Amino acid sequence: MKNYKYLIIGGGTTAGYAAAEFVEQNIGQGELCIISAETILPMNRPPLSKEYLKDKSNDDELLINDKQFYMNNGIEVMLKTTAKEVKFAEKKVVVDSGEELGYKKLLIATGSSVIHPGLENENLDNVFYLRNVVHSDKIREAAANAKNVVIIGGGYIGTETAAILKEMGLQVSMVIPEDKLLAKFATPEIGEFFRNLFREKGVDLYFNEEAKGFAGRGKVEKVEMRSGRDLPADLVVVGAGVKPNVSLFKDSNLNINKGIVVDEYCQTNIPDVFAAGDVVEFPDVVFDTIRHVEHWENAFEQGKHAARVMTENFERYNFLPFFFSDVFEYGYEFFGDSSGAKTVLYRGDVKSADFSAWWFDENRLLAAFIMSSRPEEEGKMAREWIQMKTPLDTDKFEDPDVKLDALVLNR
Ligand SMILES: Cc1cc2nc3c(=O)[nH]c(=O)nc-3n(C[C@H](O)[C@H](O)[C@H](O)COP(=O)(O)OP(=O)(O)OC[C@H]3O[C@@H](n4cnc5c(N)ncnc54)[C@H](O)[C@@H]3O)c2cc1C
Repeated sequence: MKNYKYLIIGGGTTAGYAAAEFVEQNIGQGELCIISAETILPMNRPPLSKEYLKDKSNDDELLINDKQFYMNNGIEVMLKTTAKEVKFAEKKVVVDSGEELGYKKLLIATGSSVIHPGLENENLDNVFYLRNVVHSDKIREAAANAKNVVIIGGGYIGTETAAILKEMGLQVSMVIPEDKLLAKFATPEIGEFFRNLFREKGVDLYFNEEAKGFAGRGKVEKVEMRSGRDLPADLVVVGAGVKPNVSLFKDSNLNINKGIVVDEYCQTNIPDVFAAGDVVEFPDVVFDTIRHVEHWENAFEQGKHAARVMTENFERYNFLPFFFSDVFEYGYEFFGDSSGAKTVLYRGDVKSADFSAWWFDENRLLAAFIMSSRPEEEGKMAREWIQMKTPLDTDKFEDPDVKLDALVLNR
């Protein structure tokens, strides 16, 4: 049986950045192995619904570390290999070939899988979900011969793929169960901005509509909605959210709630077993709550953090919820958690793409949504103010003549 000092299950974003950090921490040759169900080396997923979806040659940012990195540092990456069982008491992982791998310390980074919302006939050709590079390649290939695209869902994956497929010249419709796009965080004003943007770009939006399923002979021909309306479709992408990959551990004594429960050092309830990325829920020290995040920056930061802790560099994980997205020529960033907010204030012009939205509880900033056209300083200050709980002058907040640093109270 092969034995490793460090073993990672999962070859996605968390695993890739953890591997980079293990090397930073000077681990020895042959000490780290990654078990990955993927066909390619650990990667960044954001390009899969953006520039890489449009053009396969836009793959510069896909791989986190190149092949040479793993070879030079003596890291074994077992691609197309699935962990089938973890024998925690014996410190062993069994993979699909039946081989057993021993570890001293284990990092679980199994990420998320797409949610299949029970749509009828989803096995028809040209109905896709998007999580990995193979899916992105298949959608691009299908798009080359498609005319009518229907996107199910108005969240990040839905809006990003709709924008790219529209830019590729296809007729795009979106079926959105909510009354606005990006309903998880969008205020009525933000919702209106995105609705206008997508309509101006020629995307047909069907709000308050739910897909029931698909019909076609072998290949999808139409999307059937619960309202009775049908939409013609020769390509469908479903973006209905993701769920943590925890089924491997269902018969174990690993503490799992929505995700694997870890402390601020990425430690699970089992000694020498750590977890990070989309698969965990962790103590959020900024909002003093338990947090589950399904976004890139957490995978990046927490993967590195786990590797530091596993190499005996103890520090608490201090992460401010954050994500970014791009649609058409615009990008945006979201900081914090708007759920406890009482007021939303805006800077810039909400009717244009040049605005930012700021969520407050009294004069404490909880969250900020910032379009990429805004001054860079806004993102920097949003991060700092939310993290430091800086009291701000909400009366003057929307005044364009008042500079950001003049909004801080009690100085
Ligand atoms: C198309 C797309 C676009 C995105 N765009 C953005 C964006 O713009 N902004 C943003 O903030 N976030 C974005 N995200 C989210 C971000 O990519 C994820 O949060 C991040 O990938 C999570 O990293 P992870 O390592 O935890 O999980 P993953 O990257 O999903 O990696 C988990 C890996 O574990 C493997 N695995 C699971 N079980 C096993 C097993 N038993 N054995 C072996 N391997 C296993 C899986 O195959 C997978 O490779 C996007 C995600 C997708 C899919």
